[in-house]
Amino acid sequence: MDNYKTLTISAIRQGLSNGSFSAKELAQQAVSLAEAENDLYGAFLHFCPERALATAERVDADLAAGKPLGALAGVPVAVKDVIMTKGVRTTCASRLLENYVAHYDATVVARLEQAGGMIFGKANCDEFAMGSSNENSAFGPVRNPAAPDRVPGGSSGGSAAAVAGGFAPVSLGSDTGGSIRQPASFCGVVGLKPTYGRVSRYGLVAFASSLDSIGPFVRTVKDAATLLSVIAGRDPLDSTSAAVEAPNYSAGLTADVKGLRIGVPKEYFAAGLDPEVRGRIEAGLKVLEGLGCEISEMSLPHTEYAVATYYLICTAEASANLARYDGVRYTRRVDEPETLDEMYSKTRGEGFGAEVTRRIILGTYVLSSGYYDAYYRKAQQVRTLIASDFKKAFETVDAIVTPVSPFPAFKLGEKISDPLDMYLSDIYTLNCSLAGNTGVSVPCGKTAEGLPVGMQIICDHFQEATMLKLGDAFEQAGGFTV
Ligand code: GLN
Repeated sequence: MDNYKTLTISAIRQGLSNGSFSAKELAQQAVSLAEAENDLYGAFLHFCPERALATAERVDADLAAGKPLGALAGVPVAVKDVIMTKGVRTTCASRLLENYVAHYDATVVARLEQAGGMIFGKANCDEFAMGSSNENSAFGPVRNPAAPDRVPGGSSGGSAAAVAGGFAPVSLGSDTGGSIRQPASFCGVVGLKPTYGRVSRYGLVAFASSLDSIGPFVRTVKDAATLLSVIAGRDPLDSTSAAVEAPNYSAGLTADVKGLRIGVPKEYFAAGLDPEVRGRIEAGLKVLEGLGCEISEMSLPHTEYAVATYYLICTAEASANLARYDGVRYTRRVDEPETLDEMYSKTRGEGFGAEVTRRIILGTYVLSSGYYDAYYRKAQQVRTLIASDFKKAFETVDAIVTPVSPFPAFKLGEKISDPLDMYLSDIYTLNCSLAGNTGVSVPCGKTAEGLPVGMQIICDHFQEATMLKLGDAFEQAGGFTV
């Protein structure tokens, strides 16, 4: 199978139907390649070949019996290690959960497998999804397949590298403030964050519950549409999943984007934006213009509050969510503590890495009485202003186009000692998350040095169909390589 590294979902479908390969061969190829080459980029934390093979057997049996195949039949899938996979370790890249074996499947995992997707490995990530470079994993960093001395982005760096490095045609990540879009842009693949509530969070280990969403990394926008149709939709197990019908996203890829109104927010092109990134996005906008889109400059006036607002809210929620790792539940406990308090503090002190600890401390602080009004409540108020910026904007535009990150992938170690500088990586993705909108990163050329650049398309709540149609038309018109 010499073309394994570039396979798409539709190519797999075709290969299965014309007998070029079986699902079993695909599953074996996925595992053996990823295991053999994992030292290159460190994209995976562990593998679950039995699980992939069991799904493969089912797909091959259906194929032989002439039964209809699921939308993801025979597609090897990597899953970020913050998503529950029954019977398989789910570590959140944390020492604290090093030996934790999930005892149920996340809804997305169940839906993927039902559609014939073959989950074969768990992808490396930043500890509890906190980070922008994948350097916060307790089990070592991930390298960017496009430039191995550079970071793949984070926190879903392993999921992005799994697709970019050719190990999996599809992976799942999670995005709280940019963790799908930013690594997708750094690695040169497609990464989609759905509207908050579009995809069930049941079985996603909580970081900041009002922001977390699960979404795919893929090679083409068409594959993103296929995948989203499988995982989207109401789930009775997640009360925040919306009862909004999920359309057939693939059927909506008509390439007809003439007259679509695109807003370009001036705040996203201000100081701090790398000139080469700016150049690529401007070239991308030309492609959209050529397709008949109406491009206009607009404003999202509260953009500058993104980083402050996000880091108050996400740390507050994280401090509450991570309180459950107390040494009593979830496997890890320090040896022979003398008192209960010592058991709690030592277990957590040893189990959590520096960034997670920093966020728990910050989050506890902003929620404490006396500071709550000044920080947490204020941040919630600003969040409402940010959301209303987008609401107003979507009265006059159908989509907003911006860079994903102000700079391309940086070198390993370059920003790790300066958390504030690291936090700026997500300056263009945070507000879309705070507003609960959907956003996708699509490849948009490379810098002179060959580093991938991503273009972000943001749409209103539950308007993924418009976003995918625009992204697909952009891809068909050669936008990925401008
Ligand atoms: N990089 C951001 C953070 O560190 C976003 C993380 C995410 O989306 N999970 O919080």
